[in-house]
Amino acid sequence: MKSIKRLILLAIIIGLGFFIYSKRKDDINDFIRREAWYKPCERTIDFTVNAIDPKFNVSKDQVVKTAQESAAIWNDTLHREVFLYRDSSKSPLDINLLYDERQRLLAGLVVQKFNIEADKKTLEDKITAYNAQTTDLNKSVAALNAQVDYWNSRGGAPKDTYKQLTAQITSMKNQINQVNVERQGIENNITKLNTQVDQINAQNTEFNKLLAIQPEEGVYISNTNTIDIFFFDSQQDFMHTLTHEFGHALGVDHIANDKNAIMYPIANYTTKLDAEDLQNLENFCNGKNRFQTFYENVTGILGGYYNNYVKKYL
Ligand SMILES: [Zn+2]
Repeated sequence: MKSIKRLILLAIIIGLGFFIYSKRKDDINDFIRREAWYKPCERTIDFTVNAIDPKFNVSKDQVVKTAQESAAIWNDTLHREVFLYRDSSKSPLDINLLYDERQRLLAGLVVQKFNIEADKKTLEDKITAYNAQTTDLNKSVAALNAQVDYWNSRGGAPKDTYKQLTAQITSMKNQINQVNVERQGIENNITKLNTQVDQINAQNTEFNKLLAIQPEEGVYISNTNTIDIFFFDSQQDFMHTLTHEFGHALGVDHIANDKNAIMYPIANYTTKLDAEDLQNLENFCNGKNRFQTFYENVTGILGGYYNNYVKKYL
């Protein structure tokens, strides 16, 4: 009984398949050429920019421009349009900018690091000036002591010289007091700076914990054909992440042992394909023929349908 049910279901599926094909022939042929029958790097993947969280503070035009520049890196290398921007919600590859807590932490860290660097520079200048002043003062104190010793060895200074020396000693004491006040100020600044460094380290720890959960600045999700960007600290960082994720969308894997490669798994600021990237791309593009991709894609699509729809009724 069960096998008859299966045969009927199979006949319905085949019949439905022929019916749909006869109605949507052009669309289906186009779909097959784009999604199934191709050599890697031969098809054109349409992409669009979809959601942009306003917290990123970038316009859609800016994102589209950067995405087109990133796409051009692959297109120029392959001398064909593997990625094509379309302002359409029907484009298969979506780019989303989804604001992530890490973005906020990173933005805060970037500003704080900048401020701390500026404070450190001011403090270093102050310490240099203080050291120069102390050296001069020590020389003056030594010279004055030598004079005092000289007159003491002679049983005392003449009245005018004594007066002059006393005035010099008073002035010297004032200068020493002033230098001590400056030293106290510098010590206070060092304490303040250390507190800031402790705070920034605590935030770094929190940031690293978040990074450990979701270590990429962006991600390509193959089953929804989506590129999600979570954060970036500069235009160059954004461009790098997009270019890296476009690589994944094309099907290119990571390069584990070249820190300067676009496809290195940990984010860097590279925006050019280096020699390793080019070799990796060539291997990928020539790794399969049309039959292999067709077989993989068709079995993938049919397997998905079988699991999702047919299996339930058998
Ligand atoms: Zn990656």
